[in-house]
Amino acid sequence: MAVAARPRRLFDYTVDAEQAERIVPGMRVRVPFGRREEIAWVAAPPREAPAQREYKPLIEVLDAAPLLDDRLLALCRWAADYYQHPLGEVFATAVPGPLRRGLAPAAVPPSCLRLTDTGRAALDQLPKRARVQRMLLEALSRGPVPREKLLPHAATAAQALHRALAAGWVEACEPPPPPVAPAPALTAEQALAVERLQRAEAGFHAALLEGVTGSGKTEIYLQLAARSLARGEQVLALAPEIGLTPQLAERFAARFGARVASYHSGMGEAERARVWLAAAAGRVDIVVGTRSAVFVPLPRLGLIVVDEEHDVSYKQQEGLRYSGRDLALVRARLHRIPALLGSATPSLESLHNAASGRYLHLRLGQRVHATAAPRIGVVDLRGQKLHQGVAEPLLDACARHLAAGGQALLFLNRRGYAPVLLCHACGWAAGCPDCDARLVLHRARARLVCHHCGRSRPLPSACPDCGGKALLPVGQGTERIEELLRLRFPEYRVERVDSDRLARAGELARLLEDVRENRIRILVGTQVLAKGHDFANLSFAGVLGVDQALYGSDFRALERMGQLVTQVAGRVGRAGQAGEVLLQTHQADHPLLRLLVEQGYPAFSAALLEERRHYGLPPYAHLALLRAEARHEGAALAFLHAARAALPQDKDVEALGPAPAGMARRAGHHRAQLLLRSRSRARLQRLLAGWATALEELPGAHRVRWSLDVDPADLF
Ligand code: ADP
Ligand code: ZN
Ligand code: ZN
Repeated sequence: MAVAARPRRLFDYTVDAEQAERIVPGMRVRVPFGRREEIAWVAAPPREAPAQREYKPLIEVLDAAPLLDDRLLALCRWAADYYQHPLGEVFATAVPGPLRRGLAPAAVPPSCLRLTDTGRAALDQLPKRARVQRMLLEALSRGPVPREKLLPHAATAAQALHRALAAGWVEACEPPPPPVAPAPALTAEQALAVERLQRAEAGFHAALLEGVTGSGKTEIYLQLAARSLARGEQVLALAPEIGLTPQLAERFAARFGARVASYHSGMGEAERARVWLAAAAGRVDIVVGTRSAVFVPLPRLGLIVVDEEHDVSYKQQEGLRYSGRDLALVRARLHRIPALLGSATPSLESLHNAASGRYLHLRLGQRVHATAAPRIGVVDLRGQKLHQGVAEPLLDACARHLAAGGQALLFLNRRGYAPVLLCHACGWAAGCPDCDARLVLHRARARLVCHHCGRSRPLPSACPDCGGKALLPVGQGTERIEELLRLRFPEYRVERVDSDRLARAGELARLLEDVRENRIRILVGTQVLAKGHDFANLSFAGVLGVDQALYGSDFRALERMGQLVTQVAGRVGRAGQAGEVLLQTHQADHPLLRLLVEQGYPAFSAALLEERRHYGLPPYAHLALLRAEARHEGAALAFLHAARAALPQDKDVEALGPAPAGMARRAGHHRAQLLLRSRSRARLQRLLAGWATALEELPGAHRVRWSLDVDPADLF
């Protein structure tokens, strides 16, 4: 039996004859655990207990049928083994909260609501002042509406619905059959790709679909999905971020209708549980979601699509540190079905797998609607006149494209007004007391904010050290660029798009709508903007902060910079008019930057792969990072030294460290890490299995916070 608690081991309980009869792995049970009761999962079928040992009896079996089917169980076991994580916690990650807490499957009603006859009669009788109630019933009077569309965020509406359900005016129902939109005829390139995918052997195989933005990758997902659906199968499509699921879900829904469901952490828990169960019951044909959707049960699963497969958001950075993309491949193998990974800028891992023949490699070179590829240029910052850090040629290009009726975007991956606030008199700089980091000046909120622990405080009016009044913001963030553009281009509407600005729900959708309607002409933003959104009228993009990536200490920084520039470039260009992209940098001669600009992402990524091979970095080596942090200085390092001593000798696995982390103190904790590296994934895995258990027994293990990260996305 698996209990979601820190120990990695499973726990045994005794069952009576009746329970033994019906208990199956994947069911939930209630068990005594310490002095509490917990809901746990059956991990293995019952067996004879060894005579001398005593076990506590199980309290109750909660399910009549397993909530996790065999293949989902196998996926969870695989994840527990591979990521060295307790199985109980893997289950907890896989299953939505209400089900984790014991909700009975039958308690979840179907997804749509409709008006009953009594409801229709009641609508005519409702008094004028019952405004919310009337709106609700009227919305339903034209036919069934999906729950999530009907329930706006207001609590009054939820109350009105509750009352209407209780009064029998409204009832749950299954969604109506979909209106199915016709598919366009494929382009020659698309047809070739689909044909090659069709020809691939039946059963598990993986394909990498590499195609520039607008080359019709999504259309290929839809056509393959259509074939799966025609065979009565289900389809799982993953997107890297909550913000990108609606548009992918809408593309599927427009083609296939209402049996498409979204699944991501932005939805309420109850709604997630409903989708989870509907998918398990086969009432949903297509699930579109973020990484956690990889765990949604789909008994008739026939195809998995991973869109924007290169995106680091597929990697969970806490708890079970899994990669949704990698688990999608494992799941496809378990179901013996194809997995399709799509991207305009594939990850080096996937490119390597394609080059070595493990993945089918399909390419789409042309945009479907023939907009010419944008001109990409580099502005050499050396000796240039700068305006708040922005070079004159970028501002000139903005002006030109705006005058020609286009939209302009300036991209900078740094929020706030300025990353440093400095005293001109004595050199004092505002730092975070809890982190090895400077506080970032946020002018809009009039606060200094730590981007690492979230601590913030009001802007000081004078230097705390010398009392000097001249406090200078140094460097640029998106707020400062926004201010610059407002001053420079007062005749156009400028908007900033970053996570500060998007704190309110629905804000991104509203802004994107204003961009579509051409009300917003200039955008300043972080990576939120570079991902996946279509801008029909965008004709210029300026990329600031390229140097951050070139000087960055993270070995993936360059890969990400290349992906970002290519993704931004992919969004630029209006109908019949080539767009323009300018990167500003002090390192205009950097060979990899030149390669990216002159020959594009394929040549750039090939060179990066060569570099990774040379330095023995992924995908040519496999990494696991043991991180530790503690309030007491030295405790984390001491734990890691003990961990290193407990590491079995293996000439094929190299241990680097322990050493203080890149940011040695964060949120009041001292941080350190120990890196393991091996050319053989199997050897590393074998070593980790024993070591991870040994770590829990180490003397310091309970005094430090530690985690083991297999295939870490970064080494901080
Ligand atoms: P990607 O996913 O590679 O960015 P999409 O599949 O979204 O590309 O295609 C870009 C645009 O071209 C979309 O508006 C899509 O509807 C349209 N499109 C794709 N394939 C075709 C086709 N074969 N015929 C006509 N329009 C197409
Ligand atoms: Zn001072
Ligand atoms: Zn801090």
